[in-house]
Amino acid sequence: MVAVQFIEPMQDEQAARAAEELYIKTFGKKPEGVWAAPGRVNLIGEHTDYNGGLCLPIALPHRTYVAMGRSDAGAYAMRVRTVSDVDPENVAEANLQGLEAGQVDGWSAYVVGVAWALRQMGYLDVQGFDAAFVSCVPLGSGLSSSAAMTCSTALALSDLAGLGLSDSDEGRIKLINAAIRAENEMAGASTGGLDQNASMRCAEGYAIRLDCRPGLSALESVSRVPVDLDARDLELLVLDTCAPHQLNDGQYAARRKTCEDAAAKLGVENLRVIADKMQGLDDQQRAQFMDGIFAQLDDETMIKRVRHVVTEIERVDQFINAFNKGEIERAGELLNASHDSLRDDYEVTVPELDVAVDVAREAGAYGARMTGGGFGGSIIALVDKGQAQPIAQRIADEFERRGFNAPRALPVVASAAAHRVSQ
Ligand code: ADP
Ligand code: MG
Repeated sequence: MVAVQFIEPMQDEQAARAAEELYIKTFGKKPEGVWAAPGRVNLIGEHTDYNGGLCLPIALPHRTYVAMGRSDAGAYAMRVRTVSDVDPENVAEANLQGLEAGQVDGWSAYVVGVAWALRQMGYLDVQGFDAAFVSCVPLGSGLSSSAAMTCSTALALSDLAGLGLSDSDEGRIKLINAAIRAENEMAGASTGGLDQNASMRCAEGYAIRLDCRPGLSALESVSRVPVDLDARDLELLVLDTCAPHQLNDGQYAARRKTCEDAAAKLGVENLRVIADKMQGLDDQQRAQFMDGIFAQLDDETMIKRVRHVVTEIERVDQFINAFNKGEIERAGELLNASHDSLRDDYEVTVPELDVAVDVAREAGAYGARMTGGGFGGSIIALVDKGQAQPIAQRIADEFERRGFNAPRALPVVASAAAHRVSQ
C-alpha cells in the first residue's frame, strides 16, 4: 500500500519569495507587493448560500499568493499580464479597454474578471497590471482555489489603485462582490458567495457563521465561531478524493434552478424563508408543516432538493450549539446527516466521496461529510487528535483496492483571511 500524501501549507515568507521570483523572471521587473488569500473548507451548510441560507466555513492554511505591479502608463496602461506556477512558461494577456463579460478564456478570466468587475462598479483607477501566482491550494478540489485567486487579486488591486477597501469589513464586501462577478460573469463559473466571504472574512482560530439572507449588513451577515480543535483534542481531516473531473457546471446550475423554481412555487423570495418558518416547531408541527410544503411542490425531485436545503440550513446552528457545548458526538451526527442528505436528497455525491466518508466513519470519526459543491472534490472528518493520518491512510488503502485515484490529505486548522504579505 502506498503512503497517503499530505499537502503541507506554504509559509508566507517562502511563498512570497517564490511569487516575487516568478514575477521577476516573467516580467523583468520587481513587483510592488505580494498578497495572499486562502482556500476554504465548509464545515456544514452546503448548497445553502444561493438559497439565502447559513454556512460555516473556515479558511485553510493553504493560500494563493500573488505578486503584482501596475503597468506603465501609455500604450500598456490597460494591459493585464498573468502567469501562474501551474504553467510558468505561459503568459496570458488581456486588455481592460472595452472588455466585456465572457471575453477572456482560460484561468486568467478569474484575474482579469476582478479588475473588470471593479471597473464596472465604478473604480476606474483600477487599470492594467502584471500578476504572478504561486499556490498550494489544490485546484478544482472543492477547496476554492478559484476564490483564493480572485480574492488575492481583489486585495492587491484595491491596494495598488488606492481604493482603501482592504481594511474594513464593508470594504471587503465590495471586493467580495467583485470576486463573485469575476467568477460568474467573466469565468462563467456559477458561485453563490460562500467561498469569497470565507477567503476574505474568516479569522485564525474561528469559523464564520455566514448568513446569506439578502439585504443583511456586513455586521449581520457574519459572526465568528471559535473552532479550537486542539483544545478539544480533535483534528479535522480534509481529504481531496482526486475523483476524475466531472462535468458539473450544468448540474450546479440545475440544482440552483430547481431551488429558485421551488421558491417561486411557494411564493417566497428564497428557501431560507421556509427554513425560518420551521424554527421553534415541535416534531409533530414540523412534520405537518413539511407535508404542507411538499404538497404544494408536487414533484419528487423538487421535494428532495427542498428537503435538503431546509434541513441543511437548520443543521448549521444545531452544529454550532453542539460544538460550543462540547457535544462532539452530536456535532458528528450532524455532519453525517449533512452528507446523507447531500447523497440521497441533493444527489451531488460520487462513489469516491461516499466511500471516503464511509471509511472515515468506520475508522472512528465522530462524523464525516463531503464538502464543497460535490460531483468529486473533498471530504472532511472530525476525528480525535492523532487520528487524521491513520484514517487518511485507511481511505487511501480502500481507494487503491477499488482502483480509484490516490487521494491527498491536507493538515488543516482554522486560519487567517486574505492579507498583504509584503511591500
Ligand atoms: P475550486 O475553486 O474548488 O478549486 P474551481 O473549478 O471553482 O474549483 O476553480 C478551479 C479553477 O480556477 C482552475 O481550473 C483554474 O482555472 C483556476 N485557478 C485557481 N487557482 C489557480 C492557480 N493558482 N493557477 C492557475 N489557475 C488557477
Ligand atoms: Mg471554485
